[in-house]
Amino acid sequence: MKLKPRTLHTSTASPDDLEALAARANELRARYRRERDKRLQARPEGDGQFQELRGPFADFDRDPYADPGFSRPPVVEETDVAIVGAGFGGMMVAAHLHKSGVGKYRIIDKAGDLGGTWYWNRYPGCMCDVESYCYLPLLEEMGYMPKHKYAHASEIFEYCQMLGRRFEIYPRALFQTEVTGLVWNEPSARWLLTTSRNDRLSARFVVIAGGVLHKAKLPGIPGISDFRGHVFHTSRWDYAFTGGGPELPMDKLHDKNVAIIGTGATAVQVVPKLAAAAKHLYVVQRTPSAIGPRDQSATDPAWFQQMASKPGWHAERGRNFIAKITGKNPAIDMVADGWTQLLCPDTRKFSLNRAERKRLELIDFRNMENIRARVDAVVTNAATAEALKPWYGQMCKRPCFHDEYLPAFNRDNVTLVDTDGLGVDRITARGIVVRGVEYPVDLIVFASGFEVGTDYWRRLGFDPVGAGGVPMSKAWKHGPATLHGTHVRGFPNLLLNTFMQGGQSVNFSFTITETARHIAYTISRCLADDVVRVEPTRAATLNWLRIVLSVAWNWVVYTAACTPSYFNSEGRAPSNLIAALRSFPYMGSALDWAQILEEWRSEGTLRGLELTRRSS
Ligand code: NDP
Repeated sequence: MKLKPRTLHTSTASPDDLEALAARANELRARYRRERDKRLQARPEGDGQFQELRGPFADFDRDPYADPGFSRPPVVEETDVAIVGAGFGGMMVAAHLHKSGVGKYRIIDKAGDLGGTWYWNRYPGCMCDVESYCYLPLLEEMGYMPKHKYAHASEIFEYCQMLGRRFEIYPRALFQTEVTGLVWNEPSARWLLTTSRNDRLSARFVVIAGGVLHKAKLPGIPGISDFRGHVFHTSRWDYAFTGGGPELPMDKLHDKNVAIIGTGATAVQVVPKLAAAAKHLYVVQRTPSAIGPRDQSATDPAWFQQMASKPGWHAERGRNFIAKITGKNPAIDMVADGWTQLLCPDTRKFSLNRAERKRLELIDFRNMENIRARVDAVVTNAATAEALKPWYGQMCKRPCFHDEYLPAFNRDNVTLVDTDGLGVDRITARGIVVRGVEYPVDLIVFASGFEVGTDYWRRLGFDPVGAGGVPMSKAWKHGPATLHGTHVRGFPNLLLNTFMQGGQSVNFSFTITETARHIAYTISRCLADDVVRVEPTRAATLNWLRIVLSVAWNWVVYTAACTPSYFNSEGRAPSNLIAALRSFPYMGSALDWAQILEEWRSEGTLRGLELTRRSS
């Protein structure tokens, strides 16, 4: 059964609707609190509940796509720039350096190709839930027409390869290579970067674009190693076992019972594909996702040609999308999809007055009531429908949009195994155990997400050593000290493309690309002006922190009441609250953040940076 797309989210709530919800506000708040408490009681350990992919679990991290026999001689050289990470973050820095005429750089990645997220995530059904015409970077320059409104992962991966050829990134890339060390050398004013392939790069500047959701994690379920069937994480999909491919049906699962653990944004995309292929599919749920309509469509070439004939269309559309989802109320809604109909909590102000807060809460209730009504409208089994309803605020987890996920539960070969917020009891040699019942399976797929709240250097896999021989783990004991999230105090000539104190948006590509533009600007300026050492001043980093925190408060308040997720450190107050606050992204509109950066660049003075010129 295919669900008819229909509009369910809306930010224009009628007064009558809201009045009816106001009468139920206490009841809904109590229900949300109950669900949250249930989760917290079951797993109070916060981020500590997850299993890192190392030791006996290291094999989960193995790259199934790259040539295991690959080898090359070590690279020992001096370079202007070393870029760590070849996903959108690193690639966009490379592309902007290329445009500025900087060609002496290296880009290093543990993957076997460009693409980052889109290299690793090849699971069936994988796609981007942000409109392709906004999401794909440099679309206008590339003159490329995406095939659909929402691009499939394989198309995005191919697009990354096109970018790599167009901006001549490939000849500078060191793939299947992990950075093992990064040490600042004051006398030469250079970084020494070492790798798992014995490379030694002496770089004037280093950019770390290590990714945001790149370090896969497993749920901390006892007995994972006891399982005798097949098992893998969604970001390391084993097509050799399942058959098929990202765009082909899996043809080896027809006689296999499969369990998928997790029901986040990834699982929502995978489940319909597994349902169509497996003998039986058990969808193991701890907390349901909120699923709005997808409404996918093929790109109409005539429409696209007309839109793309206007210079600047891509930037305008991307900005219109962010304006709409951050409450800026642009006159037109160019994208007009589930995202733009969501009213995100207004995080732009330091504080909301009582009336504003109440109205936003009622709109949030209403959107979630619509999500819950959609479950009833689609899922025929009443008990299953009840279990699939999410009871939390709309921005407590990444909202999902899909038209085949809920209908999958109407199939005879699909069972929702609801853990009632408790998670899987344990894994045995034969399968999974939930609330005392064992489900024997041949394959377990972990759709259990990625590390977000853990230490930055742990996620990177190396601990940069800055000025005075101080490692980042020590320098950042009380949290990051940056200007714009990019320039790092104590770490000269190091630039970060991350969310910490940087921009954020549901369209990751927008903030990553804007940050890359900013980084490439600074580096090319410093190279042109013979600046050998650049580091933000203490005053500038403190001022930037003040700006970041000035727009954080509403988000902190909102997520504190949320059901656990990586948005709120799994519901547990971080042990180092100051460090956690200092790691916050700029939670106001990404357009405001981008404007601050743009204005800084147009000033042209590199304000807030201490510069040492070669001649000085
Ligand atoms: P998530 O972290 O969102 O989901 C992990 C899932 O594993 C959750 O359902 C979680 O349950 C479940 N889980 C964890 N521990 C247990 C346990 N012990 N027992 C049972 N279940 C457990 O990871 P995803 O990979 O789904 O998504 C991560 C992010 O990736 C998204 O938020 C999004 O930003 C991005 N993404 C973006 C897409 C796009 O189209 N742009 C598509 C897919 C992902 P619980 O909720 O209770 O913690």
